[in-house]
Amino acid sequence: MSDVKQKMTVNIQRCKGCALCTAVCPKKIVEIQKEKRNDKGYFYARCVDQDKCISCAMCAMMCPDCAIKIEK
Ligand code: SF4
Ligand code: SF4
Repeated sequence: MSDVKQKMTVNIQRCKGCALCTAVCPKKIVEIQKEKRNDKGYFYARCVDQDKCISCAMCAMMCPDCAIKIEK
């Protein structure tokens, strides 16, 4: 589990927690975590299972703030 490749990365300072990315992910692995806020005070999105990510980039395309980066 420790050497799982990070395919989906959220730029947490850009995220405003709108949750559009969570709705669109076909694998349902994006969530708005409720533990930490970014500098603007928003709870931000995270990928909960990088292993399951298929790098489809649906989340990145949906994000209005271009906060998500996808790598294969
Ligand atoms: S790239 Fe696709 S599978 Fe991966 S987190 Fe984004 S929407 Fe989900
Ligand atoms: S769509 Fe973008 S701004 Fe909205 S919660 Fe997801 S990463 Fe954050």
